[in-house]
Amino acid sequence: VPELPEVETVRRDLQEHIVGATIVSAAVHGHRTVRRQKPDQFISAVSGRKLISTSRRGKYLFIEMDDGNRLAVHLRMSGQLLLRSNHHFDRIKHTHAILDLDSGASLHFVDPRTFGELWVSTASIPELDHVGPDALDELGTVIDLRRRLGTRRSGLKAILMNQAVLSGIGNIYSDEILFQARLRLTRTPESLNRPALARLHQAINNVLTEAVERRGSSLSDEQYVDLFGKVGTAQASHCVYAREGSPCVVCERKIERVKFAGRSSFYCRNCQR
Ligand SMILES: [Zn+2]
Repeated sequence: VPELPEVETVRRDLQEHIVGATIVSAAVHGHRTVRRQKPDQFISAVSGRKLISTSRRGKYLFIEMDDGNRLAVHLRMSGQLLLRSNHHFDRIKHTHAILDLDSGASLHFVDPRTFGELWVSTASIPELDHVGPDALDELGTVIDLRRRLGTRRSGLKAILMNQAVLSGIGNIYSDEILFQARLRLTRTPESLNRPALARLHQAINNVLTEAVERRGSSLSDEQYVDLFGKVGTAQASHCVYAREGSPCVVCERKIERVKFAGRSSFYCRNCQR
């Protein structure tokens, strides 16, 4: 499932390779991908539009267009944006939308599980009012983090994954952040002294920054690739995620796996307290 570093990698690729291009035509296949408006409305809203810039908030990706509207993208479980040469007959399986650019290339939205979506936003997006600050760009200070964590009684793993607290962190990076911060998944905000909170703050920044530099994580059972269909390399530097039974990189004790909110989580019993 794409998290902040994967979405940011796609955004940077889009910023470099499609900003300045104009959408000359568009096609939508199936009914799941464009569902906030009718496919015909979507197609007419993007056709002829020049792409001005890109932005991101958590896992939401936006491409600003020359009429002031935004093309919004959420990859959800398995969505991919691929920049491909302009041959519709070459459409790969699960391609649900194609935006043809005047550069001769086209942007394909591929999504086997069909939870992902595209839409044109003409105004503010109400649900973003309930999305917390971006976990990388808007992390703020240690004191800001203390305030955002508040007095919630759930464990840090759940709080980090709560998009209303900070946006962009999911199952993989929450485990990596808590390992680097040397904190158990079940620790509560109130139990953190100042050094522990500072470690958590630094770990959020470090883990996400490094994962963006490594162009995101591509796992064997998941689908993330960049704009050109290439896998990321951050998975090679994971310390705990999907490393059950392997030695901890710090203490060599075996990494353990636990079920957490229905998902597998990984941690070192010795290093994380
Ligand atoms: Zn360890």
